[in-house]
Amino acid sequence: MPAATSDRIQLLKGDITNVTADAIVNAANSSLLGGGGVDGAIHRAGGPAILQECRQIVARQGGCATGEAVMTTAGNLPARFVIHTVGPVWNGGHRGEPELLANCYLNSLRLARERGLNTIAFPNISTGVYGYPKAQAAAVAVKTVRDFLAQNSLPQQVIFVVFDEENLRLYEQELA
Ligand code: ADP
Repeated sequence: MPAATSDRIQLLKGDITNVTADAIVNAANSSLLGGGGVDGAIHRAGGPAILQECRQIVARQGGCATGEAVMTTAGNLPARFVIHTVGPVWNGGHRGEPELLANCYLNSLRLARERGLNTIAFPNISTGVYGYPKAQAAAVAVKTVRDFLAQNSLPQQVIFVVFDEENLRLYEQELA
């Protein structure tokens, strides 16, 4: 049986590019060719190796659909791998946004499990430029991760990395 879920979830405030984990997750866009926000920060800090691998993935499979996830190495980052997932753009909530956001967490966790990774760190996917309401996004993220951990022993640890005070408060509430 997997260990108790609550012992396996950590909350951290700060810059995800500084986090030491087997994988950090990038809130990418479907082109995989870089963007602003956390995506820009990861490519800046990680260096050109990440983009080069993203280009190879694009050449192979033509980008990444919303809710899907792909993995690259992490260049100069302290993490070993970057899992790039594409969150949904918020469009009022009736265009499958909650399922698509849950798929981001689920497919990232599945990739980590398949590769035998112990630790994975998530940013607050879709809550920046993509405009997903933060409280609703936090609820989806925590529920999806909890359900997955209850069924799987890998990854052992999930770190939610929040970048702003509002998300910190929301995740503290969700995890309480
Ligand atoms: P999206 O397009 O999926 O909304 P953004 O990068 O715009 O992606 O924002 C996603 C979340 O990542 C936001 O909550 C934003 O505050 C946060 N964020 C931005 N930069 C960083 C960083 N360096 N480390 C962790 N989180 C970050």
